[in-house]
Amino acid sequence: MPVTVAAAAVVLKAGHWRLSADRYRIELTSQPRHHCPQCRGAGGWWVGGANPEMEACGCWAYRPQLRLRLLPRPKAADEPPF
Ligand SMILES: [Zn+2]
Repeated sequence: MPVTVAAAAVVLKAGHWRLSADRYRIELTSQPRHHCPQCRGAGGWWVGGANPEMEACGCWAYRPQLRLRLLPRPKAADEPPF
């Protein structure tokens, strides 16, 4: 197995939670519920006419999100020096 696999971000899904982690942070975010009576697991629906917008369903949108920072992100290398 190449080393790149170990360096890639990890995404785990357990129930209606999604855990994603890489070397910079660990994130635990909620996912739409499959048996949600409103969105049926889609996480939202389209509203509006000419310019429809995605309306987030309350089954996941208002749940807390956990984020742990690990290593500080490196500064962008292409920042112009003064
Ligand atoms: Zn829902």
